[in-house]
Amino acid sequence: MATKKVFFTVGPSQIYPTIPKHFKTALKQNIPSLYHRGQKFQNLYFKTTQNLRKLMNIPLSHHIFFLGSSLESMERIIENCVEKYSFHFINGSFSKKFYTIAKMLKRQPEKIEVPFGAGFDFSKVDIPKKTELICLTYNETSSGVALSLPEIYQLKLKYPSVLIALDIVSSAPYSKIDFSYIDMAFFSGQKCFGLPAGLGVLIVNKKAIAKAKKLAKKNINIGSYHNFLSFLEEDNKHQTPETPNVLDIYLLGKVCDDMLVKGIKKIRQEINKKADYVYNFFDRHYCYKPFVKNHVLRSKTTIVIDVLDKAEKIVKQLKKHGFIVSQGYKQYKNNHLRIANFPSHPFTKIKKITKIISNNKK
Ligand SMILES: *Cc1c(COP(=O)(O)O)cnc(C)c1O
Repeated sequence: MATKKVFFTVGPSQIYPTIPKHFKTALKQNIPSLYHRGQKFQNLYFKTTQNLRKLMNIPLSHHIFFLGSSLESMERIIENCVEKYSFHFINGSFSKKFYTIAKMLKRQPEKIEVPFGAGFDFSKVDIPKKTELICLTYNETSSGVALSLPEIYQLKLKYPSVLIALDIVSSAPYSKIDFSYIDMAFFSGQKCFGLPAGLGVLIVNKKAIAKAKKLAKKNINIGSYHNFLSFLEEDNKHQTPETPNVLDIYLLGKVCDDMLVKGIKKIRQEINKKADYVYNFFDRHYCYKPFVKNHVLRSKTTIVIDVLDKAEKIVKQLKKHGFIVSQGYKQYKNNHLRIANFPSHPFTKIKKITKIISNNKK
C-alpha cells in the first residue's frame, strides 16, 4: 500500500487540512457550475474579498482582483503601471522573472542584482529619477531569502512618488504587510494558503489605478480584458472580467474563514516556531547547513538547506517515508533542499523529517 504523502514542496504544496471538507460542500452546493454573473457568485466573491481584508489587514484604499497566477500579476502590473522605466531588486529567480517580463513587454527595466542567497543594502541603492515602479520579491522562493519589510517601507518614504509592487507569493498571509507603504502586492493560492493551483490574487491601490488610467489616456496598451480598469469595473459589481476559477475563489474564502478562527497571530507564531526548529537543527548538523548564512535574511516560509550534492538522495529517502520536499532551484538542483513551512505543515511532521535526515549518516 502506498504511504500517505505530505507535500513539503514550495508550490504547489500540501493542501490546507480543511480543503477536503470544503471540496465536498462545494460539490453539494454546485459551486463548480455556479453562474459567474449571478447574485450567488457576487456574494461568494464579496465574502472571499472581505475575509482576505480581515486576515491580511487590507485597507479600503486597495482593491482585490482575481487572476490566473502570480506571473500573470507581474505582467499586468508592468502593463498597467509602466510606460518605460521599472526598477527591479534581483536576488533570485522570481525577482529576475519580474524583470524579464518587463523586458518582454518592451519596457526599459533597470535593476540592481546581488548574488543568489544575498539581500540588499537598501541605504546604498540609488534609484534613477525617471523610475515609475519599483519591483521587489519579499520572499525569494528560489534562494530562501526574505527581505526586511521596514527597509522596504523606507524605500517608499525615500521615493514617495514611485509606485511599489511587492511579490508576497510564498509568504502571504504570514507576511504582515503595512499596505500604507505598498501600492501593489500579489500572491497565489497554491503556496501558504494550501489551495489547488490556478488562482492569483492582486492587491492594487488607487494610485496604481490612476497610473493605468493615465497610460490608457496616452493611448498606451494596458492589455485587453485583464487590465486594471476592466478589473475595477467588474469588481464594483463583485464580478470578474472573464469566467474565473469560481471553485478556487470559494475555497480561498473558506480557508480564510478557518484561518480567522484559528487567528493569524497564532498562525504566524507557529510558523516562527517551526522555522526556528528547522534552522536550529541544520545549524547544528555535522554537514548540511542552512544556505542563507545571514540569520536576518532567512525566510520563515521557504527554507533552503545546502546539502552539498546529496539533494537527490535525501529527497528519495524522504519520499520513502511519504514526505515530498523540493530540490534546489535550477543549477542548485542537486545542492539544495527546499522545505516549505506553510500553515498546512504540522510541527510533528517537520520533526519527523529532521529525524529521518539525522539518521542518515552515510
Ligand atoms: C511561485 C512563485 C511565483 C509564481 O507563482 P505562479 O502562481 O506559478 O505564477 C512568483 N513569485 C514567487 C516568489 C513564487 O514563489
